[in-house]
Amino acid sequence: MSIQAIVLLGAPGAGKGTMAEAIRGATAFIHVSTGDMLREAINAGTPVGREAEVFMRQGALVPDEVILKIVMARLEQGGPDALYMFDGFPRTLEQARLMDAEFTRRGAKLSHVFLLDVSRAVSLERLGGRRICRRCGANFHVRNIPPKKAGICDNCGGELSQRPDDSRATILKRLEVFQQQTAGLVAYYEKRGLLQRVDSSGPRDETVADIMKRLQ
Ligand code: ADP
Ligand code: ZN
Repeated sequence: MSIQAIVLLGAPGAGKGTMAEAIRGATAFIHVSTGDMLREAINAGTPVGREAEVFMRQGALVPDEVILKIVMARLEQGGPDALYMFDGFPRTLEQARLMDAEFTRRGAKLSHVFLLDVSRAVSLERLGGRRICRRCGANFHVRNIPPKKAGICDNCGGELSQRPDDSRATILKRLEVFQQQTAGLVAYYEKRGLLQRVDSSGPRDETVADIMKRLQ
């Protein structure tokens, strides 16, 4: 056996995190979200967190060296036959090339790159309405997944808040950064025959089922 991986690619608001949660529950994939790892580093006040925070607050990408360092460290933890599901990585051509080189070196295999396709309007509406529990991290949406009591988590009673980069201006910036720096990965993976387009604008369970079918 060797390391195997899939990648969830998509604009902010496409549902990468939501899909990853569902797939993780139904498979043996280890979920690797660079966004979550960076937010944890910020909360823990580590040097990586301090470096990343400025970029994330502005909706800009964190430098490739920082990202590669945390991803490589994560690959050491899963063992020689781990199954990884990358969410939010790679996000630049440089990250994709370095990932390829590292996979070749390790004899690891990238099997699928799922492009979660949504319109700009859907991304804007999802991110603008997203609310997250400060205590347990559960996700809500003011219209699509409203909590029973406004501003309060259904699971734990914690207070709901917006992610710092979910302000209107930062959302627009993140969408622009996706077009400029990440969208080029679609052609990169298409050429390798790895790209799978998934419509991610419908109900969550339909998109999950679509991905699960293609993973068979
Ligand atoms: P979203 O896809 O909705 O923007 P993420 O949690 O994946 O949410 O990412 C949040 C932020 O974390 C990004 O705007 C960026 O600043 C940083 N980030 C996450 N992954 C990467 C990556 N692979 N390369 C550079 N920056 C990243
Ligand atoms: Zn909660």
